[in-house]
Amino acid sequence: MAYVTLEKVSKDFGKTRVIDAIDLTIDNGEFVVFVGPSGCGKSTLLRLVAGLETMTGGSLTIDGVNMTDVDSANRGIAMVFQSYALYPHMTVAENITFGMRMAKVAKAEIADKLSRAARMLHLEPLLDRKPAQLSGGQRQRVAIGRAIVRDPSVFLFDEPLSNLDAALRHEMRIEILRLHKELGSTMIYVTHDQVEAMTMADKIVVLNRGQIEQVGSPLDLYLNPDNLFVAQFLGSPK
Ligand code: ADP
Ligand code: MG
Repeated sequence: MAYVTLEKVSKDFGKTRVIDAIDLTIDNGEFVVFVGPSGCGKSTLLRLVAGLETMTGGSLTIDGVNMTDVDSANRGIAMVFQSYALYPHMTVAENITFGMRMAKVAKAEIADKLSRAARMLHLEPLLDRKPAQLSGGQRQRVAIGRAIVRDPSVFLFDEPLSNLDAALRHEMRIEILRLHKELGSTMIYVTHDQVEAMTMADKIVVLNRGQIEQVGSPLDLYLNPDNLFVAQFLGSPK
């Protein structure tokens, strides 16, 4: 059943149409990857789902609810950025629990959620460290931990691994897929990396110049690309 539905979603910046009448449905629990070349609109599309940008036209529903008048904090989503966006003066534990502490969540619940996230992400030994004392991969785990404690129904990732070296990227891909399995949440993952798309996605959405070129499973797209752009982008045999 469709959990996230986009109908004719468009976004203009000034006179430039950056997202052009996109129709897309995402099922509950699906791992969907938006892939395409730099500047094609991946981040903008994700930010529209997150409510960090306002749509110029079209409609978006999540779990059957129209999101037009729902702000970002109330969409049941959590976003993980490439830049991690951690607070440098706070420990790992403080970074992960910051949102809950601001919202005055009960101490016991904060402790529970922190320990669950720390366990899932293997952060237990690092909880008292500051971001500067962490590797890039560890920082990205903290950023994911901060998302997990919000119990989102939809996780949004914007090129979360592009600052990491190849070995760490490989390790974190497996980690994110393990989390997806464990949590069962819907995940939308943006990357310009074909390998990431092919190895992680249940469903790939190939974007080009603000439009969808093709949607399908990695195997579908690889074996039956609709056009030359998709074939060349994904390195298909034809
Ligand atoms: P991607 O994430 O695929 O690299 P983006 O969604 O960041 O692409 O950008 C798509 C297009 O929209 C680009 O041409 C970019 O320059 C433009 N763009 C993105 N954000 C803004 C903004 N806030 N103001 C004006 N143009 C923007
Ligand atoms: Mg981007």
